[in-house]
Amino acid sequence: MKTFCVIGLGRFGSSVVKNLIEDGHEVVAIDTDTKKIDNFKDIATHVMIADATDERVLKNIEIDKFDGVVVAIGKNMQASILTTMLVVESGAKNVVAKATTDVQVKVLTKVGAGKIIQPEKDAGERVADNLAHPDISDY
Ligand code: ATP
Repeated sequence: MKTFCVIGLGRFGSSVVKNLIEDGHEVVAIDTDTKKIDNFKDIATHVMIADATDERVLKNIEIDKFDGVVVAIGKNMQASILTTMLVVESGAKNVVAKATTDVQVKVLTKVGAGKIIQPEKDAGERVADNLAHPDISDY
C-alpha cells in the first residue's frame, strides 16, 4: 500500500482518486471547492478544503512524504503551474501534472513535473492508434 496526494477533483483528479482507492492505496484529496470535497469525504482516505498554491498548506501535509503527487488542476493555468512548482520544489517524488494546452505542457516541463498528462489528447492518440493498427494490442 502506498500513499498519494491528489490536488484538484475535476473529472481527471476524481478518476485518479477512485482508481488508487480501488487499488488499495491511501489518498489525500485536496480542493478549494467545498462541494467537490463533500463528494469525496467517504471515498478518499482524507480530504482537505485548501488552496494548494499556498506553500503552507503543502508544508503542513508534508507533501514530500507521499509516494506520488498528482496535480489535477487543468483550466486554472496559474494555479496549476504554481502548485506544480511548489510541489516539485518541496522535493516530492513522482509528480504527475495535468495539462490542457501545449503551452501548459511546456511550462510544467520547465518547472520539473515528472510526468504530464493531457487526458483528451492522450486518449485521442490511443484511439487513433488502435483504429489504425488493430493488430497491435494496447498495453
Ligand atoms: P477536468 O477536465 O479534470 O474536469 P479541469 O481541467 O476542468 O478538470 P479545473 O476545473 O480547472 O480543471 O480544476 C480541477 C479542480 O481543481 C477543480 O475541482 C478546482 O476546484 C480545483 N482547483 C483549482 N484551483 C485549485 C487550487 N489552487 N487548490 C486546490 N484545488 C484547486
